[in-house]
Amino acid sequence: MGQTFMPDVLAGQVALVTGGTTGIGRAIATSLATCGSDVVITSRIAERAGEAASELSAMTGRTVLGAECDVRNDASVIALRASVLDEFGTLTILVNNAAANFEMQALRMNRRAFATVIDVDLIGTFNVTAAFINEMVGDGGGAIVNIVVPYPEHGFPGFAHAGAAKAGIVSLTRTWAREWGPYGVRVNAVGPGPIATDGAVENMLGLSGKQRSGAFGDRTGRIPLGRLGNVQDVASACTFLCTPAASWISGIVLDVDGGLNVA
Ligand code: NAP
Repeated sequence: MGQTFMPDVLAGQVALVTGGTTGIGRAIATSLATCGSDVVITSRIAERAGEAASELSAMTGRTVLGAECDVRNDASVIALRASVLDEFGTLTILVNNAAANFEMQALRMNRRAFATVIDVDLIGTFNVTAAFINEMVGDGGGAIVNIVVPYPEHGFPGFAHAGAAKAGIVSLTRTWAREWGPYGVRVNAVGPGPIATDGAVENMLGLSGKQRSGAFGDRTGRIPLGRLGNVQDVASACTFLCTPAASWISGIVLDVDGGLNVA
């Protein structure tokens, strides 16, 4: 399905999508730019960020900045903040999408593996948000969308670290929505069901080659809407939460899972 929003619905906005060069983040960045927002995308690899930014800019006609950032690293996040404010002078949309999840049974999980994912997913989300919230508050508000997983409070077998991190992000989402609502900052989360991005298939499930095409295929029968999701499904939900159509929505987790939440 193509673009489903008015092409200028986000005109005048400046959006940052962490991890926006690949998978779901890239689709979100593309969708926001297609809706008229200028966009910043990040990668830990500067060259990757620059190349993806050039491609997105050529595709959408918007100004797209590719910036190097490791969300775990304070100095890196401070440098990102400086680059964004130098280029655009403000930030009005923040999508905390960067994550580093890998499958590991809880019986084998040691502190280091657990802390690695908490550091990138949960503390990374905190770091980037903390770096920009004063600009949002000072400039009259904005929209933050945190990418989580559906119902992490139910547990996440095989991903105890990511489940704990995402549950923590859901709590942050609700706390921030309550504390920052009075300043015009809306804070929501999107919980994608299984989406066969390269990152999910390779990093999370450790599959490659032929295995990739069928990675999530066996789950289709359990999905009420009868198909796997794709990155555009997630990008559309995220974009909606950034538009004025969602101007009285804050503190929610919007699950984008084909109805799995009731299956
Ligand atoms: P992905 O392509 O692997 O995306 C992860 C991104 O995070 C990459 O662009 C990566 O960029 C970035 N990243 C990793 N470590 C980082 C760090 N320390 N600092 C900054 N950036 C870092 O996977 P995806 O499937 O699109 O996942 C995107 C989001 O959706 C994640 O939050 C994930 O938990 C969530 N999600 C995915 C699914 C699914 O089934 N795919 C389901 C539920 C939730 P670089 O490697 O270039 O730095």
